[in-house]
Amino acid sequence: MSDIATTAESPARSPLAAEVSRRRTFAIISHPDAGKTTLTEKLLLFGGAINLAGQVKAKGERRNTRSDWMKIERERGISVVTSVMTFEFEGLVFNLLDTPGHEDFSEDTYRTLTAVDSAVMVIDAAKGIEARTRKLFEVCRLRDIPIITFINKMDRESRDVFELLDEIEKTLALDTTPMTWPVGRGRDFLGTYDVVDGGVRLLEGGGAKTGAAQQIEIAELAKLNANLDVSAVKDELELVTEASKPFELDAFREGHLTPVYFGSALRNFGVGDLLEGLGKFAPEPRAQESDQRKVEATDPRMSAFVFKIQANMDPNHRDRIAFARLCSGKLSRGMKAKLVRTGKSMPLSSPQFFFAQDRSVADEAFAGDVVGIPNHGTLRIGDTLTEGEDFNFVGVPSFAPEIVRRVRLTDAMKAKKLKEALQQMSEEGVVQVFRPRDGAPALVGVVGALQLDVLKARLDAEYSLPVEFEVSEFQLARWISSEDRKKLDTFVAANTSSIADDVDGDPVYLARNEFYLGYTRERAEGIEFANVKDVK
Ligand code: GDP
Repeated sequence: MSDIATTAESPARSPLAAEVSRRRTFAIISHPDAGKTTLTEKLLLFGGAINLAGQVKAKGERRNTRSDWMKIERERGISVVTSVMTFEFEGLVFNLLDTPGHEDFSEDTYRTLTAVDSAVMVIDAAKGIEARTRKLFEVCRLRDIPIITFINKMDRESRDVFELLDEIEKTLALDTTPMTWPVGRGRDFLGTYDVVDGGVRLLEGGGAKTGAAQQIEIAELAKLNANLDVSAVKDELELVTEASKPFELDAFREGHLTPVYFGSALRNFGVGDLLEGLGKFAPEPRAQESDQRKVEATDPRMSAFVFKIQANMDPNHRDRIAFARLCSGKLSRGMKAKLVRTGKSMPLSSPQFFFAQDRSVADEAFAGDVVGIPNHGTLRIGDTLTEGEDFNFVGVPSFAPEIVRRVRLTDAMKAKKLKEALQQMSEEGVVQVFRPRDGAPALVGVVGALQLDVLKARLDAEYSLPVEFEVSEFQLARWISSEDRKKLDTFVAANTSSIADDVDGDPVYLARNEFYLGYTRERAEGIEFANVKDVK
């Protein structure tokens, strides 16, 4: 770690560059139950953010509750706190952005990944790559986000370790470099071998600490556990050391290679190695693309984009918190920002800073940090804030919905009001709205069912619009485009009953199922069908 600290303190750097270089903004991607909550808690404990750790736990305990209004209410309270967790460790500032999972899985989960510079992929050693992990990984790959792998639950029966690595390589097309290697398996799991520096760190005693592993001779291990076949362990470690791909920082930073750590979040084992790896390898805040130029994190002019909006469920308080990722410069309390979409100035009088240790004293944040900006519906997903410059960040995309429903209004007289409400809800990223060209009632699309509950509750509370959702004949939506405008017009004209406009007026093709989609796609020469749309 010492080389990092020296870089951060280098006198040649400006104070801004020094602050930026010590930031690591990351998320954890995993399938439900792989151990994300447990690992988060342990990471926060390392950083001394003990207060928050209890709240993360509270979230874990609540997971079996039904997805009802009360749950959404509580969710809001907790998730504002846990949306971003900041902790310091060995001179570095870690911003861990929460990716909602379980029933609260939503588009926010995907969008959060557009605001991080790296991700930790947690894999259950008994299960390997599961569906949700794979999806989240694909979102990371869209942005070439580097991934550090933590293979969890090594204290239990696991799958063959070589097989697990092979699965990562094959299913994700990602090279692996084991940084540690498990010694013993399941009940006989003794600890991990440090592939880079040698030595074994034991599960019992000293596991939680970082630093050099204890230099335990392999032969000595037999004394600790009679079941261990020492010569087999030796052979395996030799094989791992010789056959593993060497770790290459560039390949990792480009998203082609993942360093792999083994451990047990529950037993707080291997977490220190992971955190050390994050500090050493995970990139500092990256330059971000805008429609005008690439914006460097060390550019002194403040800029940020909104990737998540949290509404207050109380109908008497129509305030919202927009979560913005700072891309460059420094944000100070009281400064004025320009909301580029409207060209209007916006005072940042009470931004919320998320520093775990003492939130109240912080009054500035740097590129890589996330701030919460209270507003009354002014800010939308994808909005860019600057110190006056006119550019928009490209990169908070929309993702094709996995659930499509038709909105049925119980009071037909309120159609106009519903249209306005749906517009607002889609700008805030609650759901996506598709308006069929044939004039049929609007469709809403989501990636997680909870989004529908939130929409229903908010339409009722904020607009007095009771709605029901009906299963629609359409299940899939794809954004369509073509380099040849005429081809697109012809396709649209020939498929009017399957075409809708999204919130920006961009055309979307609606399909009954994968089969229909494939059938149409094959015959629609020159038409692109996209399942991700970049917000311009
Ligand atoms: P999440 O859904 O990914 O947030 O998973 P949790 O952190 O809530 O963990 C799911 C379950 O696995 C809980 O019962 C945890 O106690 C358990 N668990 C998490 N990590 C480990 C581990 O390293 N070993 C074992 N044996 N259990 C674990």
